[in-house]
Amino acid sequence: MGELASSIQYLSGVGPKRAALLKAELGIETIGDLLAIYPFRYIDRSRICPIAEVAVDAAFIQIKGKIISRTLYGPQGSVVKTDSDKIPWNAAKRLSVIVEDGSGQMEMVFFKGIRWNYSRLVPGSVFVFFGKPSEFGGRLNMVHPEVDAPLPEGSLLSGGLTGVYPSTEKLKNGGITGKVMCKLESAALALCLPEFQETLPDYIIRENALCSLQYAMKNIHFPADQYALQKASRRLKFEELFYLQLSLLKQKYIRSHGNPGLPMPHVGKGFNACYGSLPFSLTGAQKRVMKEIHADLKSGHQMNRLLQGDVGSGKTMVAVLSALIAVDNGYQACIMAPTEVLSQQHYANIRRYLAPTGVRCALLTGSTTQKERREIHSGLRDGSIGIIVGTHALIENNVLFRNLGLAVIDEQHRFGVDQRAKLWNKRADGCSPHVLVMTATPIPRTLAMTLYGDLDVSVIDELPPGRKPVKTTTIPDNRKGAVYSFMRKQISLGRQVFVVYPLIFESEKMDLNNLELGYEEILKYFPLPDYKVAMVHGRQTNEVKNFNMSAFAEGRADILVSTTVIEVGVDVPNASVMVIESSQRFGLSQLHQLRGRVGRGAEESYCVLVYDYKTSKEARARLELMCRTNDGFEIAEEDMKMRGPGDLEGTQQSGLPIKLAIASLARDGIMLGEARAVAEKVLEADPLLEDRRNYLLTKELRKGKFDMKDYSKIS
Ligand code: ADP
Ligand code: MG
Repeated sequence: MGELASSIQYLSGVGPKRAALLKAELGIETIGDLLAIYPFRYIDRSRICPIAEVAVDAAFIQIKGKIISRTLYGPQGSVVKTDSDKIPWNAAKRLSVIVEDGSGQMEMVFFKGIRWNYSRLVPGSVFVFFGKPSEFGGRLNMVHPEVDAPLPEGSLLSGGLTGVYPSTEKLKNGGITGKVMCKLESAALALCLPEFQETLPDYIIRENALCSLQYAMKNIHFPADQYALQKASRRLKFEELFYLQLSLLKQKYIRSHGNPGLPMPHVGKGFNACYGSLPFSLTGAQKRVMKEIHADLKSGHQMNRLLQGDVGSGKTMVAVLSALIAVDNGYQACIMAPTEVLSQQHYANIRRYLAPTGVRCALLTGSTTQKERREIHSGLRDGSIGIIVGTHALIENNVLFRNLGLAVIDEQHRFGVDQRAKLWNKRADGCSPHVLVMTATPIPRTLAMTLYGDLDVSVIDELPPGRKPVKTTTIPDNRKGAVYSFMRKQISLGRQVFVVYPLIFESEKMDLNNLELGYEEILKYFPLPDYKVAMVHGRQTNEVKNFNMSAFAEGRADILVSTTVIEVGVDVPNASVMVIESSQRFGLSQLHQLRGRVGRGAEESYCVLVYDYKTSKEARARLELMCRTNDGFEIAEEDMKMRGPGDLEGTQQSGLPIKLAIASLARDGIMLGEARAVAEKVLEADPLLEDRRNYLLTKELRKGKFDMKDYSKIS
């Protein structure tokens, strides 16, 4: 016993040298660590697809065929000469190999590893190609297939499923090839399988029709067949997602029970006056969200809720009505926005909504004068101000409330954790106000369940009626002339135009240069006095930034050249065109955010995605998705599938706080939902997991695999 914990070095076939390599490359120290690395794919060696039967939308397939020809292409599709001794490798950008299997021909394409693949894929030889078929120019191909020599006829391996383990160049060079890895896993399993003890309680295994851990371990590495593999993988994914959710939900339970909520049972005068005089009716989604919020406010527990809604979905309305519930119950509310401009805009809107209510409202920002500031401070202290709107000026220490009951935070990712924590401490009695965090960054449900697993999430998934979708097109940057003439036409109709440059790293000189060059070019094509152009970027002082921003917001400038500082919230209804330069460098979710800056007025509005004409086909396909849909959630889902959840824009979690060994947040959304439901049921019956039958759960949670940073304070 105890082999699982023993050093990998002592596994037969390893030794000190390979042990060091396994540790450096895959972090493997013990035999148990090795067994915790699962194949990421399985090859069914028995199944070869005839080329004639390949469908473009097929999943991964295996082709076996003879190489007919190989051609190297240069940057603009020119053929690179290969007839001399010295092939100019630097000029080769793409290798195209034609394969034939008796039923048809197919092209294999390589952009990387060109030299190596060229040298081994010699015409006349036979190889097995594994990959996902695609289509280019009406022809079937496979991009970057995996290439293997065919197995000898009648080989033992050719029957079943063979796992493919993660590998690296260094591992291969050190002799740990895919085959060796399989052998090691097999030896480890033979040694340790009986040691694996069940990690899920019996009743959960039974109720969810899961297989045992030992069965799963055996079959995830060496599946008996497709069916056994599915059972094994389902069990392991479920377990992982279940413990993740159990851990989050338990944290949430502890938080909400440690924080008695300020009671707000009434919906009163203020709410009704505002609601009754709205010129529109709330959308179904707004009504649903209001119900969810009100249920929280009267629940006796502190609310900690994330409200997601696309730009223009009417979150401000929800914030105001929630604030009025607080006021109706004798509390104050604050609404905090990340920038001066946004706070001003919120204030202007909110004041309109509040006019029929008689509730006193004020604006507090960095540029509030001393005199006003003193009045506001005293109004907050004596309780005469019911709702305060502002920037982080609101959380300064000298701002004291008489009875703060609700804090609404717009665009939470712009605020630091410390700033948010300060809001929590604005009450003298140590109770935390209810917290509503709003974001226009659509986060796919599966990711929200994880990142904000201990927050409650509400979604406004419906735009107010009559809103026109933004028309989106893509255009290469060697056709800028067309973009400029379109801009001129729109400006002549009295509209305004945003031109946005990527400034991914605000410190990067090159990006800043691009912005400034772009600005100069715009000035050249849009000269005074006919056109007025303003520019904002993160390096400007707040004063300059606000000045230029207001020039545009108030219609004194036709064009605003900027970096993504305008990404969030700013409302200029007359701006109907959003031009995004080097759009291939942005994430889709970020493009969607930017696009949301237009289409807020009655006019038809446009988004033009300008891309570097050298942009790859794949990257262009990404941009095309923007033209097809205006649905932020769909875009976020796609973005996550294409880029992986760690890269999702706007969530600002650079990399997820947790590592999953087998489940994928992007692909296993349905199972995540199931696992969460089971976790909820378990905790409902036994919130502190004290029941005997839940003993294993507590034991597993103690291992701390999914202990995250303190997300309960994310707001
Ligand atoms: P968000 O903050 O979600 O981007 P806003 O709250 O700024 O959206 O709302 C955008 C616009 O839609 C505002 O002008 C607002 O008055 C209007 N609006 C909000 N709710 C509705 C509704 N139910 N019907 C019609 N218009 C609405
Ligand atoms: Mg808003």
